[in-house]
Amino acid sequence: MLSVSEALQKLLSAFEPLGDEQVPLSGAAGRILSESVKSDIDLPLFTNSSMDGFAVRSADVVSASQDSPVFLKVVEDIPAGISPKRILQKDQTSRIMTGAPLPAGADAVVPVEDTDQYDQQMRSTYDLPEIIKIFRPVQPGDYVRQKGEDVKQNAVVLETGSPLKPQELGILAMLGKAVISVYRKPRISILSTGDELVPVDQPLQSGQIHDSNAYTLSALIDRDYAVPEYLGIVPDNEHAVREYLLTAVQNQADLILTSAGVSVGVFDYVRSVVESDGELSFWRVNMRPGKPIAFGNFQGVPFIGLPGNPVSAFVGYEVFVRPALLKLSGVSAVQRDQVKARLMEGIESDGRESYLRGILKFQDHEWVAKLTGHQGSGNLFSLIQANALLIIPSGVKSLPAGSVIDAWLLG
Ligand code: AMP
Ligand code: MG
Repeated sequence: MLSVSEALQKLLSAFEPLGDEQVPLSGAAGRILSESVKSDIDLPLFTNSSMDGFAVRSADVVSASQDSPVFLKVVEDIPAGISPKRILQKDQTSRIMTGAPLPAGADAVVPVEDTDQYDQQMRSTYDLPEIIKIFRPVQPGDYVRQKGEDVKQNAVVLETGSPLKPQELGILAMLGKAVISVYRKPRISILSTGDELVPVDQPLQSGQIHDSNAYTLSALIDRDYAVPEYLGIVPDNEHAVREYLLTAVQNQADLILTSAGVSVGVFDYVRSVVESDGELSFWRVNMRPGKPIAFGNFQGVPFIGLPGNPVSAFVGYEVFVRPALLKLSGVSAVQRDQVKARLMEGIESDGRESYLRGILKFQDHEWVAKLTGHQGSGNLFSLIQANALLIIPSGVKSLPAGSVIDAWLLG
């Protein structure tokens, strides 16, 4: 049986980022950049004021104080959005607003709070004064945002493979990028297999359960920058399994993701259908929970078969599907929220690489971990109570309290 890392390596080698497409910036949230973005301009684009106040030559106001203010002649009004006309001469000032370009000759701004204009400026109609008093000195550069202090022209601002978060969208807008080149979003066909499964909005007969995996998996896929397409519940017979898999192929899915029906049960048809109409690369991995995990292709479309038990399906997704989706979507840094944690209790394992539901707390400068009660792979509620998966390496059968392990924080 393959180890987790062998299986993951096999699986990942079958995926490459999809092609790219152009999208308007307004539709680019959560997409993955398919090229790096260079700045054609400096940011800020021009030297400007960071305060509402008065642009000055700092040398003119070195002696300013509350008791002995410096008097300056106001020569221009510079609201945001205009280009100053006047060059400041000795003992001159221009009224300036936040974000307005600093006039030539000025090297600093005195905030209005440090002048005799503060009270007047609180009024809505306020004419430009002729002379003002400055109460405090400023240093060259004070309250001034220099052209290019944030981003220099030609600097690489965003790398290929970056997910576009809100702040990335903001900077793309600052750079005037109205159309963005992103990777095409992978489309994932989801199939739930099992005669016992019933849609969530229908009543249950004896022996039936609601299909829950479809909901968990759809949300995970959505989180991981791909598009879930739920095709429905597949009955446990060979014909139906083939029909549904063919639908996924017709829909041009980039990946077919099934749950259940890949174990060794008498009615587990998924594996045999994939084997007959495609290729099976592996169907078991030496891990817990989630040993029956299948990978291959059905008529050339990549296929991952997750176990049916809800916790196993979740863990199998996190271990195998997420890395595959991130590779398909072109995400460059495939990082986990992984920490080291100290076990507060001893843990017994069976030698398989194990992903156990745990509760992590940060306490006395370190993460400490304990298990969430019952670890049965059908018990989804114990996953709700967990905030991490605790990883017990393969070959380890028992870990005493105090051991340090790796843990994945669950979002
Ligand atoms: P199987 O792999 O078909 O033997 O299924 C293993 C277990 O997972 C059984 O208890 C199934 O009832 C359960 N199961 C399978 N599919 C789902 C699903 N979509 N939602 C919830 N439980 C499921
Ligand atoms: Mg089944």
